[in-house]
Amino acid sequence: MPYASEAASNKPQNFNEIYDISVPLNKAPIYPGDRQFSQEWMERMDKGDGYNLSALSLGSHAGTHLDFPAHLLEGGKRQEEYHPGSFIMPAEVVCVPGDGPVLPGSLPESWTESGQALLFKTGNSRRNLMHQASFSDDFISLSVQATRLCVAREVRLVGIDYISVDEYGDNSLPVHRTLLENDILILEGIDLAAVPCGRYTLICLPLKIEGAEASPVRAVLIR
Ligand SMILES: [Zn+2]
Repeated sequence: MPYASEAASNKPQNFNEIYDISVPLNKAPIYPGDRQFSQEWMERMDKGDGYNLSALSLGSHAGTHLDFPAHLLEGGKRQEEYHPGSFIMPAEVVCVPGDGPVLPGSLPESWTESGQALLFKTGNSRRNLMHQASFSDDFISLSVQATRLCVAREVRLVGIDYISVDEYGDNSLPVHRTLLENDILILEGIDLAAVPCGRYTLICLPLKIEGAEASPVRAVLIR
């Protein structure tokens, strides 16, 4: 949601709009086989404890998250091999009409710079799928052809508005593989429902966990 209307004192300098494209970890759908998110209360003030204290249990692909090459590739890069600046970049939110997979024709025709992120706003956002706790197996994914075009255009990160860039049921994960083999980060589980198509700066910082093959992020778009 945009925070543009918040009091000026709360608004960071130089940005007119900030869109939070992350989803609540405790309400996001979970990919079949992944760990359920849980927050266990160890101390509770409403039970007479002196403070509130909780412990979290979650998969590294929970909610809005980044996939690193080590997710699929032997010896692939892990979280700590990226400079924090790798997670801050110009981004384009691309509106994709229709109910089928993202095709090459959906990519923007004009292209001014390499090293951008492309975030696909599809029917998943129109159906609000990231806000439904139950998993939907008919989500819109990327075609391999569109993925190859992303590689050719030297995109730095590809994002999609559900929890996988690959079609459900294709365990060979051709889209993941094509992106990660070309060192293109994958941002999954973003919520673009309220975000107009267009250009932004993307910030999606992973948790600092050495060896991580993926990590939840707090992702925002600013402009
Ligand atoms: Zn993932």
